[in-house]
Amino acid sequence: NKCVFFFNSDSFLNFKEFQALTRALFCNEDGKPYKVDDKRVEEMFAIFDTNKDKKIDFNEFKVCWNEWIKQILSPVSALLVIDVQNDFISGSLSLKNCAAKQDGNDIIPVVNSLLDSVPFDLVVYTYDWHPSNHVSFFENIEMRKLDKSNKVKMADAKVLDTVIFEGPPVNEQILWPAHCIQGSWGAKLHPDLKVVDKAVEIYKGVNPDVDSYSAFWDNRKMSETKLLKELRDRNITDVYVCGLAFDVCVAHTAFHAIEHGFRTTLIDDACRGVSEEGVERTVARVKQNYGVVTTSEKVYSMVLAKDRRPELGYQAALQVAAKLVH
Ligand SMILES: [Zn+2]
Repeated sequence: NKCVFFFNSDSFLNFKEFQALTRALFCNEDGKPYKVDDKRVEEMFAIFDTNKDKKIDFNEFKVCWNEWIKQILSPVSALLVIDVQNDFISGSLSLKNCAAKQDGNDIIPVVNSLLDSVPFDLVVYTYDWHPSNHVSFFENIEMRKLDKSNKVKMADAKVLDTVIFEGPPVNEQILWPAHCIQGSWGAKLHPDLKVVDKAVEIYKGVNPDVDSYSAFWDNRKMSETKLLKELRDRNITDVYVCGLAFDVCVAHTAFHAIEHGFRTTLIDDACRGVSEEGVERTVARVKQNYGVVTTSEKVYSMVLAKDRRPELGYQAALQVAAKLVH
């Protein structure tokens, strides 16, 4: 690591020294600093200057180092491979038949190459894993009562319509064709997808009455999978998300990863989506929340912390700020 932090002979960091430190911290794989807005640097300085004396003294720097710089210089990274299952590629909910006409098959060599070349600390495979009476299946619409607020009548409802099932609480649901039924061929991972040793498997959407796009929480945050615990047990700091579908399960998993405080990167050429607008909305929301959206060839340098993104550093600083308040 060629980064050198400049201190003068006093035993604290003033703003200028902190600014130099951020320039050394946030640089690309060629060692070139990323441009970071002065206002953002001031904000980060204020987070670590807890006693507000415009200096970061030794004790403040200890927090800065342990809680922030350490994870930027040596992140612990997990790859989440979301729902790369037959049904989404060539089965009943094949993305090829959805609005954006994308092909889930395209991502398999990309994901395999990431698995071969990037030294992730953990790999997680998720499965959409529904019982046959699942609420998200269009074929099951008559199993439950629709709420009076519905615009669509049961008899007129079509695949991909959104309906509201009677509560309490009412349950808004997109009607997908039956897919990923537990134990079926469609629920299996695509046979060409590489499965690495010591991976963690997460099964979601197992409750018949609630859908689960995210690999963390179900859509109503009624229950949680073991994913958070698996990540925390391994001190994961950085989460990379890829898979199917970009604007549904990949999106919601990434949003929740950010919400849980993980530095989160979406690998866009290792994802395929349902609709183009949905993909655009997903990218915008991840970026708005200081996540990164990038291509697979950048991931190696990021995992090795040769490429250190300022937005992820800012996200981590916000996490420290939240911790310091509590
Ligand atoms: Zn599903």
